[in-house]
Amino acid sequence: MKKIQLAKPFIDKNDINGVIGALKSGKLSLGPKYKKFEEMMADYVGTKYACAVSNGTCGLHLTVKAIGLRPRDEVITSPFSFISSSNCLLFEGVIPKFVDIEEKTYNMDPQYIEENITKKTRAILVVHIFGQPANMDKILSIAKKHNLKIIEDSCESLGATYKGQMAGTMGQAGVYAFYPNKQMTTGEGGIIVTNEKKINDLCVSLRNQGRNNQNDWLIHDRLGYNYRIDEMSAALGVTQLKKLNWMINKKRKIASWYNQALTGYKSIIVPEIGANRTHSWFVYVIRIANGSRNKLMEELEKNNIYTRPYLPVIHLQPFMKKMFNFSRGDFPIAEKVSSQTLALPLYIGLNKKDIQYISNKIITIVKKYD
Ligand SMILES: *Cc1c(COP(=O)(O)O)cnc(C)c1O
Repeated sequence: MKKIQLAKPFIDKNDINGVIGALKSGKLSLGPKYKKFEEMMADYVGTKYACAVSNGTCGLHLTVKAIGLRPRDEVITSPFSFISSSNCLLFEGVIPKFVDIEEKTYNMDPQYIEENITKKTRAILVVHIFGQPANMDKILSIAKKHNLKIIEDSCESLGATYKGQMAGTMGQAGVYAFYPNKQMTTGEGGIIVTNEKKINDLCVSLRNQGRNNQNDWLIHDRLGYNYRIDEMSAALGVTQLKKLNWMINKKRKIASWYNQALTGYKSIIVPEIGANRTHSWFVYVIRIANGSRNKLMEELEKNNIYTRPYLPVIHLQPFMKKMFNFSRGDFPIAEKVSSQTLALPLYIGLNKKDIQYISNKIITIVKKYD
């Protein structure tokens, strides 16, 4: 029986030739490729600036610094996310203030934001989870009313739109990530996008040891980091971005096959897309409502089908519980969703028959527990 893994990157001849080209150029860092990648990305999402970095997490970290957050400031964010969307705040001593999520989209529920705003609240860090944008109309209007900045963690949502606008381009700054399981990959890599020159200038300096923008090699204006992307990764970014829409469409097709096959069963909840948005399918996540999620995963694995419980909630991670005294019940919807969700295999190369095969297994197993 063939192994059906959860995710894998799509790499073709153009990608391989692009990386070889970077290797042969003799310029392995700070060459032409990262600039080209930045121009292409700014053009793709429709922002003035893009600043490529070594991964999504450091992109978020720089963004937190560049919008001026300080130790003990508070930022409203989602507990149903990958750990790095709150770690980037903790790196700077900023306090994440979690709000519960919408049961339908798994994104931050705007109705809980205002009751969590205090004198110390400075920003909202929106996570567009799984490839689906959050309810940005409501979030933007709350931010405007309370004079809060907005960072968009779009690391899972490159290519998704809200009212026609790209996720990641609606606040002060957005970040995309290019780990191999994302919509496109650079191996490791990330990019910050913004329309604000000041934010971009700061990110450009901070990623390169705090050097000034005249790029005097040994003059450092501020405390900075080495968060640069290398030329091989950037070359891969260039060729991957050229086929990003094609890759997203392939995943949309696979998602539609899953939807068809898995809709209409009592204990299986398929993904729902909120009004005015498009989904770019970082992962295809279903919910199992009859308590058999873990059993299902085990039995699928015996059949060589690999799935993952996306995602454990952040506030119940061991170090977070210790730091902030969180306990079970603090964010009940996120906890319930998290106990039921399961990411299914999703990568280019899966065909309709594969999806039918996986879906039939799921249906048969889940039914046993109804
Ligand atoms: C992938 C991801 C990141 C950043 O990941 P890196 O591995 O650092 O590139 C940040 N936030 C979310 C929600 C993610 O899924």
